[in-house]
Amino acid sequence: MTDRPPYIGRFAPSPTGPLHIGSLVAAMASYLDAKAHHGQWLVRIEDVDVGRNVAGADQHILASLQRCGMVWDGEVSWQTQRYAWYQQAVEQLDQLVYPCGCSRREIADSQINQSVGPNQMAVYPGTCRNGLAAGKVGRALRLKVPQAPHCVMCFEDRWFGRYSQDISAEAGDFVILRADGFWAYQLAVVVDDGAQGVTDIVRGVDLIDSTPRQLYLQQALGLPQPTYLHVPVVLNDVGEKLSKQNGAIAFDDGGAAHLLLHSALLPAARFLGLDVQAETIDAFWRAAVPAWAQLLPTLPRRN
Ligand code: GLU
Repeated sequence: MTDRPPYIGRFAPSPTGPLHIGSLVAAMASYLDAKAHHGQWLVRIEDVDVGRNVAGADQHILASLQRCGMVWDGEVSWQTQRYAWYQQAVEQLDQLVYPCGCSRREIADSQINQSVGPNQMAVYPGTCRNGLAAGKVGRALRLKVPQAPHCVMCFEDRWFGRYSQDISAEAGDFVILRADGFWAYQLAVVVDDGAQGVTDIVRGVDLIDSTPRQLYLQQALGLPQPTYLHVPVVLNDVGEKLSKQNGAIAFDDGGAAHLLLHSALLPAARFLGLDVQAETIDAFWRAAVPAWAQLLPTLPRRN
């Protein structure tokens, strides 16, 4: 018996371009994991970084998911419709939040004689923590984390195993409302996952170093901690994560189903280590869900 709530997973693409093989891998892993656990699979469009949104990309991604035979539960949600939730979270965080007037340059300059965190994150030196310096205007909002050297957040990743990070030493007080007025990813993702009751997060390993900050925010907001499974990401020829920004090509511009199967679904499944043979998209999912379920006992999840 487990007292965990029923499985709710999600795919949360940023609408910065069409779905490509790299983002399909993340979508597929989260979909398969939800199906293998007889859970729900939600889709949330993470359009909170408004300056990076590409017009129409959200609908393009949704149409691609549909053509791939990936059916989401409930209504799709958009982060730009949830600003009130983020504002409410800031009110709840209350004393932990403070305005910051530092520019990127000032933060970078403050690093010159200090090491940046191992993840190459600029560690915020805490300049505005005890009040804005005279003449400075609060541009962003930051969240206080307990001071160095100890705010170690640790979790058991279902794919990569134990992961821990001292967020005070590797990130410092981090931004939850950006200087350009947009809500920060870290806050929005935690508030949304909490409000949508997401129990299991499956996404690319490029986000694993954000997870400790998200655990800290969950604790600060009194939200339950989901389980995490970070899957490997597809790299391009020069070893960078394949992304819309470095030219990843959309795979299904209205193409035939068999092309979608052979040029996208089967390669994505192989990338995830699944040995699946299929001649139709329906047959692909009928084979892929049990193949993923077979992989699960090798991952340290609860059931
Ligand atoms: N919106 C993020 C992306 O497209 C994913 C965030 C998440 O899964 O937590 O990379």
